[in-house]
Amino acid sequence: MTAKILVSACLMGHAVRYDGQARPLVHPALDRWRQEGRLVTICPEMSAGMPVPRLPAEIEPGRSADEVLSGTARVLESNGGDVTAEFRQAAENALALAIETGCAYALLIDGSPSCGSGFIYDGSFSGRRRPGEGVTAALLRANGIKVFSDRDIDALVEAAGFTD
Ligand code: SF4
Repeated sequence: MTAKILVSACLMGHAVRYDGQARPLVHPALDRWRQEGRLVTICPEMSAGMPVPRLPAEIEPGRSADEVLSGTARVLESNGGDVTAEFRQAAENALALAIETGCAYALLIDGSPSCGSGFIYDGSFSGRRRPGEGVTAALLRANGIKVFSDRDIDALVEAAGFTD
């Protein structure tokens, strides 16, 4: 059976981001995978009951997604609200769906406190980036799912062996 690919809903054009927007990704491989039924779309945060729009949230400064998953760091909204439980539930939901549907790969939008895989924001809500990953990306990777960012879709094409 051909491995499927878990994909961020906002990359697929769904307006589910915290600001009510989408970030559609245009690439011929996405069109082909969609036609072949290989894409499994999820917004982890919405799956955990978070609304659209919602306040921006970031992992607290200097802490990692792994620490969020182990219960030693928090995810906070811009007003200080603690949404750690929702972000952990979001990650669990994404992992459960990936396992249930046979996803060996994930294509997630970078920068998100859930879906980021190369960088996230530094927790100060000032727009500063730092290297790191979101909570969902970290849990997927910890369970053997190969995560690629939207910027690395060509690497996913190569790794997944889907080239024509
Ligand atoms: S949780 Fe992921 S899929 Fe949902 S809006 Fe944020 S980046 Fe997009």
